[in-house]
Order: sequence, then C-alpha cells, then structure tokens
Amino acid sequence: MNYEILIKEAVEARKKAYVPYSNFKVGAAVFTDDGRIFSGCNIENASFGATNCAERTAVFKAVSEGAKYITAVAIVGDISSFTYPCGICRQVLAEFASDMNMEIILAKNEKEYIVEKLCNILPGAFTKRDLDKEKMD
Ligand SMILES: [Zn+2]
Repeated sequence: MNYEILIKEAVEARKKAYVPYSNFKVGAAVFTDDGRIFSGCNIENASFGATNCAERTAVFKAVSEGAKYITAVAIVGDISSFTYPCGICRQVLAEFASDMNMEIILAKNEKEYIVEKLCNILPGAFTKRDLDKEKMD
C-alpha cells in the first residue's frame, strides 16, 4: 500500500468539505480489496444529526460502487495534529474492513502521518460475526 497516494486523495477530498457550522474540514480515502480508491469529505447539515463524516462518505461511495472490503483508510483533518475517526465511523469501518488489522493512516499531509490498526482503536468491536454467533445458538 502506497500511503502517499491514499493521503493525497484524502487531502484533495478535504478541500471539498461542506462545513459551514464547524469549519472543521476532513477528507478521507479508502483503498478497496479490488484495488480501487474512493474518497470523501465531511458534509454538515443545519440539522446537525444529518451531518456525515468524511470516512463514512468514502466508505459508502465504495460500497455503493460494488466494493466488498476496505483494506486501508487515510484520514486528513486538522493539519496541525492527527485526526482520529469518530466512534460511528470506527463502527462503519469495522463493518467493511478486510479484517481488524486494517490500516488507519492518520495524516497531516503526505509526509507526516502515523499508522494505526483498526483493532487498536476499536477494541472489542461488535461486528457481524457476533450476530452470526447468535444465530448458531
Ligand atoms: Zn465519523
């Protein structure tokens, strides 16, 4: 995985963020197991609950275009510090992650980034496997 390519897509997506209320721009880009990249930005709404994060925008774009699994995600928020995904986005990432070792690339820019694993930022995740177990009981 070339982190810089994925980060660059997230940086570009961040420019399209619609954030009239928070002014906090976020861009994300996901890499899928079939080799595609989808990016997204955060999109706010006057009804705050209708706001969508950049990570989920990117994931939903990927899934709606037929992607099955995501193998990595790059996230660029505050360019002076690393921006982690919110709890809802961590849960959505777990749903479509190729596995819980999926790489989460937190970037300020193409040169400054850290790499986390999904299992480390969402320990004890509740996933579709839990529901499968329930069906077997
Ligand atoms: Zn989020």
